[in-house]
Amino acid sequence: MLSNDCIFCKIIKGEIPSAKVYEDEQMVVFKDIEPKAKVHLLAVPKEHFKLLSELNAERASLLSHMLQKIPAIAAENGCAGGYRLVINQGDDAGQTVFHLHIHIMGGEVLPV
Ligand code: AMP
Ligand code: ZN
Repeated sequence: MLSNDCIFCKIIKGEIPSAKVYEDEQMVVFKDIEPKAKVHLLAVPKEHFKLLSELNAERASLLSHMLQKIPAIAAENGCAGGYRLVINQGDDAGQTVFHLHIHIMGGEVLPV
Protein backbone atom coordinates (compact mmCIF):
# COMPACT_ATOMS: atom_id res chain seq x y z
CA MET A 1 0.00 0.00 0.00
CA LEU A 2 1.40 3.40 -1.01
CA SER A 3 0.60 6.83 0.44
CA ASN A 4 -0.57 9.91 -1.46
CA ASP A 5 1.50 12.39 0.52
CA CYS A 6 4.86 10.64 0.78
CA ILE A 7 7.79 11.69 -1.36
CA PHE A 8 9.15 8.13 -1.67
CA CYS A 9 5.71 6.77 -2.63
CA LYS A 10 5.61 9.46 -5.34
CA ILE A 11 9.03 8.31 -6.57
CA ILE A 12 7.82 4.68 -6.62
CA LYS A 13 4.74 5.73 -8.63
CA GLY A 14 6.89 7.77 -11.03
CA GLU A 15 5.13 11.01 -10.07
CA ILE A 16 8.41 12.73 -9.25
CA PRO A 17 11.78 12.01 -10.82
CA SER A 18 14.65 10.12 -9.23
CA ALA A 19 18.00 8.75 -10.34
CA LYS A 20 17.06 5.06 -10.14
CA VAL A 21 19.82 2.47 -10.24
CA TYR A 22 17.67 -0.63 -9.56
CA GLU A 23 14.01 -1.59 -9.46
CA ASP A 24 12.02 -4.80 -9.13
CA GLU A 25 8.50 -5.67 -7.98
CA GLN A 26 9.37 -5.23 -4.29
CA MET A 27 11.87 -2.37 -4.08
CA VAL A 28 13.49 0.58 -5.74
CA VAL A 29 17.00 1.98 -5.28
CA PHE A 30 17.87 5.55 -6.25
CA LYS A 31 20.57 8.14 -5.58
CA ASP A 32 20.15 10.32 -2.49
CA ILE A 33 19.48 13.91 -3.58
CA GLU A 34 21.88 15.24 -0.91
CA PRO A 35 24.66 12.64 -0.81
CA LYS A 36 26.58 12.31 2.46
CA ALA A 37 29.20 9.99 0.90
CA LYS A 38 30.75 9.62 -2.55
CA VAL A 39 28.16 6.92 -3.23
CA HIS A 40 24.86 7.42 -1.37
CA LEU A 41 21.88 5.31 -2.44
CA LEU A 42 18.49 4.78 -0.83
CA ALA A 43 16.84 1.35 -0.96
CA VAL A 44 13.08 1.72 -0.52
CA PRO A 45 10.43 -1.01 -0.19
CA LYS A 46 7.32 -0.67 -2.34
CA GLU A 47 5.14 -0.46 0.74
CA HIS A 48 4.59 2.61 2.86
CA PHE A 49 5.48 2.16 6.53
CA LYS A 50 7.75 4.18 8.77
CA LEU A 51 9.34 2.04 11.43
CA LEU A 52 10.78 -1.41 12.03
CA SER A 53 8.33 -1.61 14.95
CA GLU A 54 5.58 -1.82 12.27
CA LEU A 55 7.02 -4.99 10.72
CA ASN A 56 4.70 -7.88 9.98
CA ALA A 57 5.48 -11.08 8.10
CA GLU A 58 4.98 -9.52 4.67
CA ARG A 59 7.12 -6.48 5.47
CA ALA A 60 9.82 -8.66 7.01
CA SER A 61 9.87 -10.64 3.79
CA LEU A 62 10.24 -7.38 1.82
CA LEU A 63 13.21 -6.34 3.96
CA SER A 64 14.77 -9.78 3.63
CA HIS A 65 14.51 -9.47 -0.13
CA MET A 66 16.14 -6.04 0.00
CA LEU A 67 19.03 -7.25 2.16
CA GLN A 68 19.65 -10.09 -0.28
CA LYS A 69 19.74 -7.69 -3.27
CA ILE A 70 21.79 -4.89 -1.71
CA PRO A 71 25.29 -6.48 -1.90
CA ALA A 72 25.21 -6.81 -5.70
CA ILE A 73 23.55 -3.40 -6.16
CA ALA A 74 26.21 -1.79 -3.95
CA ALA A 75 29.06 -3.53 -5.77
CA GLU A 76 27.67 -2.47 -9.17
CA ASN A 77 27.43 1.15 -8.04
CA GLY A 78 30.95 1.84 -6.83
CA CYS A 79 30.94 0.15 -3.42
CA ALA A 80 33.04 -2.93 -4.19
CA GLY A 81 35.41 -1.91 -1.38
CA GLY A 82 32.68 -1.95 1.24
CA TYR A 83 29.71 0.14 2.29
CA ARG A 84 27.62 1.17 5.27
CA LEU A 85 23.89 0.59 5.75
CA VAL A 86 21.86 2.96 7.92
CA ILE A 87 18.15 2.85 8.81
CA ASN A 88 17.15 5.98 10.71
CA GLN A 89 14.25 5.37 13.09
CA GLY A 90 12.31 8.31 14.46
CA ASP A 91 13.01 11.83 15.59
CA ASP A 92 16.13 11.30 17.68
CA ALA A 93 17.81 9.63 14.69
CA GLY A 94 16.83 12.54 12.44
CA GLN A 95 14.45 10.53 10.25
CA THR A 96 12.99 13.04 7.79
CA VAL A 97 11.14 10.77 5.35
CA PHE A 98 8.56 8.59 7.06
CA HIS A 99 8.76 5.73 4.57
CA LEU A 100 11.26 3.16 5.79
CA HIS A 101 14.47 3.21 3.75
CA ILE A 102 17.98 1.84 3.90
CA HIS A 103 20.84 4.25 3.26
CA ILE A 104 23.71 2.62 1.32
CA MET A 105 26.88 4.69 1.66
CA GLY A 106 30.35 4.02 0.31
CA GLY A 107 32.61 4.67 -2.64
CA GLU A 108 35.31 5.90 -0.27
CA VAL A 109 36.77 5.07 3.13
CA LEU A 110 34.03 6.21 5.51
CA PRO A 111 34.77 8.00 8.79
CA VAL A 112 34.09 5.82 11.81
P1 AMP B 1 16.28 10.05 6.62
O1 AMP B 1 16.86 11.27 7.28
O2 AMP B 1 16.87 8.76 7.08
O3 AMP B 1 14.76 10.07 6.67
O4 AMP B 1 16.72 10.16 5.09
C1 AMP B 1 15.98 10.77 4.09
C2 AMP B 1 16.92 10.94 2.93
O5 AMP B 1 16.13 11.17 1.78
C3 AMP B 1 17.87 12.12 3.06
O6 AMP B 1 19.22 11.66 2.98
C4 AMP B 1 17.50 13.02 1.88
O7 AMP B 1 18.61 13.64 1.29
C5 AMP B 1 16.83 12.04 0.94
N1 AMP B 1 15.86 12.60 0.02
C6 AMP B 1 14.82 13.42 0.32
N2 AMP B 1 14.10 13.70 -0.79
C7 AMP B 1 14.69 13.01 -1.81
C8 AMP B 1 14.42 12.89 -3.21
N3 AMP B 1 13.40 13.53 -3.79
N4 AMP B 1 15.23 12.12 -3.96
C9 AMP B 1 16.28 11.48 -3.38
N5 AMP B 1 16.58 11.54 -2.08
C10 AMP B 1 15.81 12.32 -1.30
ZN1 ZN C 1 5.71 6.22 1.26
